[in-house]
Parts: sequence; structure tokens; C-alpha cells
Amino acid sequence: MKQYLLLINGENKDSKIKQDIINPSNGEAIARVSFADKDHIEKAISSARNAFDKGSWKTFPLEKRKEFLLKISQGILENAQELAELESLNSGKPIKETTFMDIPSAAKTFEYFANNLEHLLQPETINIDSQISSVRAGLFYEPRGVTVLIVPWNYPLLIACWKLAQSLAAGNTVILKPASLTPLSALKLGEIIQGTGLPEGVVNIIAASGDSSGQALCSDKRIDMISFTGSNSVGKKIIDYTSKNVKKLLIELGGKSASIILEDADLEAAVNTSLCSIFLNQGQMCTAMSRIFIQDSIYDKFIADFVEKAKKIKIGPAMDFQTQIGPLISLKQRETVSKFVERAKSEGARVLCGGNIPGDTELKKGFFFEPTVLAEASLSSEIFQQEVFGPVALVGRFKTESEAVELANKSDFGLAGCIFSQDKDRAGKIAAQLDSGTIWINTYGMFFEQLP
Ligand code: NAD
Repeated sequence: MKQYLLLINGENKDSKIKQDIINPSNGEAIARVSFADKDHIEKAISSARNAFDKGSWKTFPLEKRKEFLLKISQGILENAQELAELESLNSGKPIKETTFMDIPSAAKTFEYFANNLEHLLQPETINIDSQISSVRAGLFYEPRGVTVLIVPWNYPLLIACWKLAQSLAAGNTVILKPASLTPLSALKLGEIIQGTGLPEGVVNIIAASGDSSGQALCSDKRIDMISFTGSNSVGKKIIDYTSKNVKKLLIELGGKSASIILEDADLEAAVNTSLCSIFLNQGQMCTAMSRIFIQDSIYDKFIADFVEKAKKIKIGPAMDFQTQIGPLISLKQRETVSKFVERAKSEGARVLCGGNIPGDTELKKGFFFEPTVLAEASLSSEIFQQEVFGPVALVGRFKTESEAVELANKSDFGLAGCIFSQDKDRAGKIAAQLDSGTIWINTYGMFFEQLP
């Protein structure tokens, strides 16, 4: 079994703490990873601090910084097949997705920040209303310092690269902590980064359990910024840790996003896109459209097509190119999803399809769960309020636009939303009323490096 080590101060470090990494498609161990202990965390912090304070990275001419970012991008592309396979083996994400989405997008992220460094870091002049004609004000972009980047398991490499590329582009030094279930692609990225000759200590990668590393990493005075993506419950802990020494904190948390399908939508496109919006990556997406609201007059037609197609989605091992839906990340996650569905049923939800662990013998050892569609769940029920993070769509109906807006906004989360209508002005007016950060109109899941 392949062993993976920590990357601290430009060197690979072993640890007494070892963790077997499991392939969720069959429950078997695929690699053994050294997990950071207290000492490693201390060394990673001092290495990143030292590299920032005394190293050359932050003062490198932008042209040189750009060269390194491009080398990392190129390294990802040169290792694309290995990275895609590692990601699928480790996370259960279908190989088609990792090959054509995750890995090329990861490379493109570095390329984008490399090619736009100068533009993004361009100082700005601010016009101020002053009586004194010689007063000038400017906005200058400087590196913040040492950044800790904490990544979830649903997009292990891509989210790591979103954070890493920006942080490095800005001249920071970094401690990257992948999720404990999915550290392999980030550790492989570490090898690629080492191969570029980046100065030691600029990027440190530590596999570690969140519970044992989080407080030490996030409360330490020598850390200037935390960028965290993950669950609301851990996000709250991190707010708490960082309050001790007050630092810049960027948190991207969970979702319970809603899609609104208006009666003038292109129905086929709305059905197909909605399937993708909840079943891609087994529904383990922060932006999953887990609540789908359909206008009354097209409800029956939409549901008939949606359910028929959901039943045909091909469930299979992540490494099979025919697979459309792979396993959930862990046995524990499958239990969580399964219990959510059972409780929803007992509270009155009607199962339109799925709801079970598939019975096929070839899938027995993996953590699979059928694409599930539930109707008639009450708006106040647990399943309508909480993030399931699995392949479970809730469908509901509305009569008027204002009712649709009210339904979509009836959530504590506010991450994303979708609107399907052929009338762009109408969709735009509804979008303005939704309490969500990102709204897609007649599409889903389009991410661009240019966007915040
Ligand atoms: P999680 O919160 O359990 O873990 C996220 C990361 O935090 C992991 O690296 C984990 O090891 C670490 N962690 C755990 N406990 C910690 C602690 N006490 N201190 C510091 N770090 C700790 O989330 P997950 O289960 O990996 O991912 C799923 C969640 O992430 C979902 O809620 C999903 O919606 C959310 N997510 C959000 C976005 C977004 O952009 N908003 C994107 C992807 C996932």
C-alpha cells in the first residue's frame, strides 16, 4: 500500500500517527497516510511564519511568482490522469467528473491567477473629497502573511487549489489541511509543488484530523488568516478559535439551496439540469439544489420526467467511466443520509423513487445510496430545514412567483439558488428577491475564476 507523508518546510515528514485511507466504492484501504501530531503542527506554523517573515516569496517580482504558479498548473496537467484516479479512488467521485472537471479546473485556477496577478494586485486610486488639493489616497494589495487553508472532502483537490492559488498569488505562505478522509490528491499536489522548486516553507501540507489540529492551527497568534470551507458546525468552532487572537477569517459553509422552475421554462433543459444539480457528486455539494419548487401547471409533467430519469441514473464504482453516481464518502455519511430519509418518511414524506441502499452484489461493499426523490415533506420538517449532503431531492409546488420566493427563502442557509424561465427579466426580478449568494438562471454549477 502506498504511503503518503506530510510536507513541512520543504521536506517530507513521517509520523507515528498513521491513517488508512478508504476507497468508498468497496470499503478497502488504498493508502496509508502520516497524520500530523502536535509537534508537526508547531513545525508547520513556524516554517510558514519563517518563510513569510524572513523568506523571499513575498518580495519576489510578480513575474517570478507568476512563473511558479504556471509551473504548478503545468504539473497538475502533466499528472492529470494520476490525480483524477486518486481523487476518484479516494472520494468516490465518478472518474468522468474528476477527469473532465475537477483536475482540469484545478490546473486552470493556477493558470488564471498566474496570468492575472498584475491586474488583480494593481493599486487603486481612491477619489476623496478633500479641501486640501495635495491629499491623495490609494489602495495597495499586500500579502496578508501566513494563511491556513482548511478543505472539505467533497472537492478535495479543486477547493484546495481555489484557496492555494489565490493565497500564493497574493504572496502569502500557506498551511494546507485537507479533510482527513481525502488527503491523497492534496499530498500528490505537494509532490508537484516540491518539483517546482518553490522556496521551502511557502507551502506546508499536513494531513490531520480536524479535532486534533483545528484549535492549534486556528487560534495561534502567528497565523494571520484562516480560509475554511466545510460544515456549519465546524465553521462555528473556527469562529470561536479565531476570536482568541482575532484574525482574518473567510468561511464557506453548508447549504439547502432551492431551485424554482417556472411554467415558461424549457422543461427538458430544466429537468436535465435539475438532475445534475442534486445528483452530481452524489449530492455531496454545498450548492446542491436539494429543494426543487415547480409551478403548479407543469408540476406533474416535470415530476414524471424527473423521476423517470432519476431511476435510470447509473450507480457504480467511481473508477468506471459509465458511472453517473458513485458511493457516498463513508459508511457514516451513508447512515446519516439513510436516517434522514427514514425520519422524513415517518414524518409523512412520500418516496417517488430511491430511498434505499442498492441491492446489486457488485455494490455491496461500497457506500452507495440510490438517487432519491421525496414529495409532500412538510416545510417545517427536519429534512426541509437541514443539509442532508447526499442524493436526496425534495420536490414541492407553488402557484405564484411570490409564493416561490417565500418558499425558497424559508431556510437558515443562503448559499445558492436556481431559476428556470425563458423570460430572463422575470428570472432576474425573482433572483433579486432570493436571499442567496449565487443564483444561476437556466443553468447550474457554472464556476468561473473571475467571480468572487
Ligand atoms: P467538515 O466541516 O466536517 O470538515 C471540513 C474541514 O474541516 C475538514 O478538513 C476537517 O478535517 C476540518 N475540521 C473538522 N473539525 C475541525 C475543527 N474542530 N477545527 C478545524 N478544522 C476542522 O465538512 P465536510 O464534512 O468535510 O464537508 C461537507 C460540508 O462542507 C458540507 O456542510 C458542505 O455544504 C460544506 N461545503 C461548503 C462549500 C462552500 O463553498 N460553501 C463547499 C464544499 C463543501
